[in-house]
Amino acid sequence: MIVRCGRCRAGFDVPGPGRHGCPACGTVNEVRAATAPVVPTPPPVPTYEPPSPRVTCPECGFSFIVGAVAAVPCPNCRNPVTVDHTEEGQA
Ligand SMILES: [Zn+2]
Ligand SMILES: [Zn+2]
Repeated sequence: MIVRCGRCRAGFDVPGPGRHGCPACGTVNEVRAATAPVVPTPPPVPTYEPPSPRVTCPECGFSFIVGAVAAVPCPNCRNPVTVDHTEEGQA
């Protein structure tokens, strides 16, 4: 690749990026890679999944999603259903 000396403007050939002395004036020119611009990598988006355990009402069999609560009344028959959080995502 041809670079131009930053001091005397003389053009000279270099094998690649690095520090190369100008053959005309001896000034060391730092040659950077012209290609492959540094693209900032965006930070990974955290995949946050809110806890949404699904319970099934033992009275009527109605399945519904509940939040982070200990017990919730069934929206179908109003029977209080206990939410078991221990088996959610546990191996
Ligand atoms: Zn030079
Ligand atoms: Zn029910």
